Amino acid sequence: MRRPKEEGEAGQAPAELSAVVQNIREGVLIYDPNYRVLSFNRAAEEIFGVNAAEVVGRTIGPEDVKSPHLRFLVEVIFPSLAPSVTTIQDNVWPQIMDLIFEDPHREIRVTLNRIMGERGEVIGFLKLVADRTREKELAGEQSEFITVAAHQLRTPLTAINWTLENLDKTPNLPPEAAVGIRETRGLAGRSLKIINDLLEAARLEGGRFGLKLEPADLAALFQTAVQNAKPIADAYNVSVKMDPAPAAVVPMDAERIGLVIANLLDNAIKYNVKGGVVTVRVAPDEDRQFIRASVKDSGVGISPEDQKNLFQKFYRGGNVAQMEPNGSGLGLYIAKNIIEGHGGRIGVISEVGRGSEFWFTLPIKGK
Ligand code: ADP
Repeated sequence: MRRPKEEGEAGQAPAELSAVVQNIREGVLIYDPNYRVLSFNRAAEEIFGVNAAEVVGRTIGPEDVKSPHLRFLVEVIFPSLAPSVTTIQDNVWPQIMDLIFEDPHREIRVTLNRIMGERGEVIGFLKLVADRTREKELAGEQSEFITVAAHQLRTPLTAINWTLENLDKTPNLPPEAAVGIRETRGLAGRSLKIINDLLEAARLEGGRFGLKLEPADLAALFQTAVQNAKPIADAYNVSVKMDPAPAAVVPMDAERIGLVIANLLDNAIKYNVKGGVVTVRVAPDEDRQFIRASVKDSGVGISPEDQKNLFQKFYRGGNVAQMEPNGSGLGLYIAKNIIEGHGGRIGVISEVGRGSEFWFTLPIKGK
């Protein structure tokens, strides 16, 4: 049983303080102005994969970054050594910064406090270290999932809407049919609205979204997508052809890349002119480090100003609102996230009134 605390009992307060520090959920790292570690709690041991006994009492210097075992800890003590640093607050105490590491991916928030002596001098520093990797991953995955799911639902629903709209215009419909069509149009419209709200709510935080990379043939994926696009191409009176391409097997998340391809083909068809052409090419890049795919159309083209912004969420070009009032401005945003997640790049070459060529690359050896 614990004794009640007696007044003036020496050492008890620090012992209790130390128990509190030990059990804080964040990593706690205390060091003196010469970088001699004074305290290192359990959470810090877990985050850094280092035992307190190995570092407490030891002076840490930037050169310790060479030790693979200590590297992560040293980069947090000396953030200028970390691969990516974002300052959240540095003009008042505590100072706060976010650090990002790769291999393995870690996202860390560090809060730095000074410890002052009786005469106001700095006698040490306390770093609170919060590992936000999982939190960030979950937020990114969740919003990415909502965006992709909603965007996939949106395309068929838009088509249903469009069909109902045409049916609605049919002359001499039996009255019950006319009422049924109008009501269903209303419901489809409402579903679209819900999807749009979901997308609003998703507000992608960016970052990672758990790509599953496996070798797959980019040329074959394009061939299937070109076939799938045929009905919509016919409806728009646009022809889609693919230059002959040998197999181009690269590590990818084929489902996600399929989504990118479908979006690019869909845009090339719907922002085309009547009787227009879409040409697809898949070939190794000049330096043979990447496979380059391109979707070229003979459509309305994109102004230089719009080209700068197209890949942002919800952005739509000024020249398309009337042509295609139902666009969401999400297709290219999603495409950019997916391609960059693979370590590739995406871009556009375009001239107003002449057409556009959207291209992307995927690293042959993977990210
Ligand atoms: P959405 O097509 O739903 O508007 P996207 O993100 O796919 O959303 O495209 C964003 C914008 O980029 C489009 O609104 C359009 O202005 C422009 N765009 C995309 N592809 C083309 C293209 N092939 N030709 C002309 N403009 C295009």
